[in-house]
Order: sequence, then C-alpha cells, then structure tokens
Amino acid sequence: MGLSDLISKTPNLEILRRSLERQRVGHAYLFTGRDRTAMVSASRTFAKALNCIEHKSKDAEADCCNQCHSCERIQADRHSDVHWVRPESKTRVIKIQEIRQLTARLQLKSNDARCKVGIIVDADRMPPQSANAFLKTLEEPPSNSLMILLSTQPDQLLDTIQSRCLHLHFHSDEASVMRREHQAWLETFAQQASVSDTGMLGRYKVMDILLTQLAQARQSIEEDLKARSIEAFPKEADPEIMKKRDDELKASIESEYRRQRGAILTSLEWWFRDTWLIAMNAEARFLTFPDLQKNSHQLADRLDAQYLRANIQVIETLQRVLNTNAQEALALEVNLLKLHL
Ligand SMILES: [Zn+2]
Repeated sequence: MGLSDLISKTPNLEILRRSLERQRVGHAYLFTGRDRTAMVSASRTFAKALNCIEHKSKDAEADCCNQCHSCERIQADRHSDVHWVRPESKTRVIKIQEIRQLTARLQLKSNDARCKVGIIVDADRMPPQSANAFLKTLEEPPSNSLMILLSTQPDQLLDTIQSRCLHLHFHSDEASVMRREHQAWLETFAQQASVSDTGMLGRYKVMDILLTQLAQARQSIEEDLKARSIEAFPKEADPEIMKKRDDELKASIESEYRRQRGAILTSLEWWFRDTWLIAMNAEARFLTFPDLQKNSHQLADRLDAQYLRANIQVIETLQRVLNTNAQEALALEVNLLKLHL
C-alpha cells in the first residue's frame, strides 16, 4: 500500500503527504481511531514514504515505491532504523525498559534511513513510569527522528503527551471493524441459531454461546487491567493507596466491560438485521456479515420477516435494560428467551 491508497481511504492523511513534500515532517504524530490494523498499516506506509530510495532519487511525488530495498525491509519489519514497540503479550503493558531502548535507538546515528522512526502500538498501554520516560524523549526529540503513537483509547494518554503530538484521527468503517472483532463468535452463534432446534434446550444452547463470549470478554479485561494497575503502583505503597488502587481498578474493569458488552450485543443485533434483510430480499452487499449468509438464510427461510424484525428489537431492549443497571444475568435470560429462533 502507498500513501495515495491511504489518503483515498482516509482523506485527512493528506497532511502527511504535504508535510513530506515540504520536508516539514513533525517529530511526533498521534494516530487515533477504532481500527488498530489500519493505523499500523498507515504507520508502516508513512515510514516507507519517509525513507523510499526510489521516489527520492526520481524527485517523484511523496510516496513509497514498495519495491526498493528500503521499502521492502520496512514492509517486512526488518529495517534497522524503524522500530516498533508493542505491549508485552502477557501483561499487555509497555514496559519502561522498552521505552528506554527505543529512545536509545532513536538517538543512534541512523544506519541507512534518512529518518529514524519509532512506532508505539497501543500507546495508551504505557503505565505512568513508561509514559513519563517517553515524555522526556518527546520533549527533546532525537534529531532526524519521528515518533508515531497509535491509540484506540487516546483519553488514557497523558495530556502532556497528547499536546506534543500532531493528532490524526482514522475514521473507521464500522462494519469492517465489527466483522474483524465479532465474526468468529457470531459464526458459532449463527450456526446454532439456524439449526431448527426450537425447543428450550436449543434456546439455552444459543444463549450459552453469547454468555461464554461475555464471560471471556470480562476475563480478558480483568487480566489486562490488573496487570496495568500492578505495573502502575509499586508494591510498597501504603494501604490507603492500595485501597484506592483497588477501587479504581474495579471501576475501570466495570466500565470497560460495559463498553465491550455493548459492542458484542450490537454485533449480534446487526447479524439479526442481516437475517431480516435477507427475508426482505435485500442484496448481499447490504449485509454486515456476508460470510455468515448461509446460516442467516437458514433462519430467514424458517421465520416470518416480522419475527426476524422482532429479534432486532429484543436486542435493542436488552441493551436499554442493561444500561439501567439491571441485574445482568437475569436481564440476559429474560430477554434472550424472547428471541424467535
Ligand atoms: Zn521504495
């Protein structure tokens, strides 16, 4: 992918090309949006355009050729002057050692790149020590270097970091984000829901798939946030601070879980919408989950359009009830048993 492809999808990235052409590239950029994959790929493209040997020699418009030896190495993540930092896989935290290593590398004389690039994926995963260490680098950026921070939750970043970066927002295609994040479990759900096992047992089987998905979401949020909280507070902190930490942790787990639960139920609502659209003879290109259409058709063939539409309303009602602090397990059971399957 080149800069032009990128700009055609995300027009506000035109500023990257203009800054390259005027040779006035900033020291730090903050890319935000829901679609992490798109931001990772945009950072890679920008790093290639900054260092492309071919385009520079031809004095062509600022972009990357994707073929020269610099472009190829950046694409394969093997370029010695383009450094990626990601949260550690187990704790999901960006450790201070990682930040120090990045700073040291950016301060070295560049090997063969014209611009050394440091890319921090999920920059909001920096606990305070890491964030403060990074802030120092931002305040005195190494020469000939550029830092790109990617974040899906920029409100978690220090204000002092945000204010030192040029902010670019990636508007994402909601449907493609939904497919990437939810299609796997929805496939299991759709398979079970399309089986004509309409008895109680069948319903509970369908419900169980959703409940498992919610439980997994909660578990991974708990693991993530606990790890971050432990990293942020040293062990010797006094009991009062520890108590405060635990309260904050509980609150942030709850709010993130609610956010993710909302996204899970919304994806389910969109799948039910697919089944209704099929019953209304809509074309396949209007479906959110075209890959699941075999199962969607099975359900649509079996039920009247009015029931398929009622299913969409069941999920909407469920979302509303859950937002009123209703008891979750009960609200889920009562409402999900109303689904027409
Ligand atoms: Zn190139």
